[in-house]
Amino acid sequence: MARVLFINGGSEGHVNPTIGVVEELISRGEEVVYFTIADFRERMEKTGATVRTIDREKFIKAFILGGRNYLLERINGLLHTADIMIPSVLEQIEGEHFDYIIHDSMFGCGRLLAQILNLPAINSCTSFAQTKTTFDKMLEHLSKNIPSEIVKTMNDDFQNLTAKIKEKYSVEIHTPYEVFCNPAPLTIVYTTREFQPFGETFDQTYKFVGPSITFRSTQNNLDLTAIRRNSLIYISLGTVFNQALDFYKLCFKVFGNTDHTIVMSIGEKVQISDLGEIPKNFIVKNYVPQTEVLKYTRVFITHGGMNSTNEGLYYGVPLIVIPQNADQPIIAEQVANLGTGIKLDMHSLTENRLREAVDHVLSDQSFHESVANISESFQKSGGYRRAVDEIFKFKKGI
Ligand code: UDP
Repeated sequence: MARVLFINGGSEGHVNPTIGVVEELISRGEEVVYFTIADFRERMEKTGATVRTIDREKFIKAFILGGRNYLLERINGLLHTADIMIPSVLEQIEGEHFDYIIHDSMFGCGRLLAQILNLPAINSCTSFAQTKTTFDKMLEHLSKNIPSEIVKTMNDDFQNLTAKIKEKYSVEIHTPYEVFCNPAPLTIVYTTREFQPFGETFDQTYKFVGPSITFRSTQNNLDLTAIRRNSLIYISLGTVFNQALDFYKLCFKVFGNTDHTIVMSIGEKVQISDLGEIPKNFIVKNYVPQTEVLKYTRVFITHGGMNSTNEGLYYGVPLIVIPQNADQPIIAEQVANLGTGIKLDMHSLTENRLREAVDHVLSDQSFHESVANISESFQKSGGYRRAVDEIFKFKKGI
């Protein structure tokens, strides 16, 4: 039995795929101490892990201190979170022994903690993986149209923040890539090599284990018993970039009083009462048990978050992807390239475009064939069990 330190931040999309991994580690005899925000305590305690928390408000405040407009600003935000994460984790594990660390690919300063604690590290990558080359290209591309004085300020901030971290914690940060992607000797990626853009370019330290989907016993506020399998349209923009009142109202106009049954999850930022009159064929909630709902879904209108995309395709559901932010445009592109759905643009979205896209996906058999292929490869890929096989192989070499 080994003791595992698991470091994560506080976002649904980064936590959910780790649930199965942690359960599986524990069922094979490991002891897991899991750091996240208090919101996920209950969910993670159900896995059998010992949960310790970091302060959500302080974490968010530090993260947004970097700025929110550009990628380099978000990277600086991640550097600001070092002063929240590192002292809190070190204090809460004082005097304890760990054999290895598993850390999120983005949140929680896992790479820094691995260095400080001198632990063998595994990266838990909940989006598409990136090599330094692909990341640098992306950063260069995104920096092209930014005024040079802003680029200079962001670069200066990066240098200052990394210098401070070096002084305080005696760890070196060489590149923005290290901060944003937390590279490690083993990276578990929760998709397949076929679905990963340029999948063939990743070396054997990247293990594409496929979606890690488990039954999540979150409060079930939805009665699906009266609903026929494979009959719903499900709409959700995920848990982060979901403040989209106009979009939800547009959905009412397109699908209200039609033969479709619609489940729409609107997130916690919009109040259901702000939506006005809800058409009779809609079920609207702030949060739904998504992996359950998908079993009843014919078409999923999604923002293209990595987890929602994985979960939709895993359950064989074609997607209409309307990316909002972050990695979602790239994921949407990949969904369209593989014939598993249609990508739409939020800014130019009209009632007609959305209606036509749904009709097209429902009537064109080719989407269903492509989705069936991907779904089969996702289901065969092993998910969290394969992830733990790979972690155990890695452990032998420590
Ligand atoms: N989710 C859910 N119910 C909801 C909305 C989201 O269970 O009503 C879950 C969904 O199953 C997925 C995660 O929240 O596991 C969202 O992650 P994703 O990467 O798709 O998007 P993000 O929320 O990070 O933008």
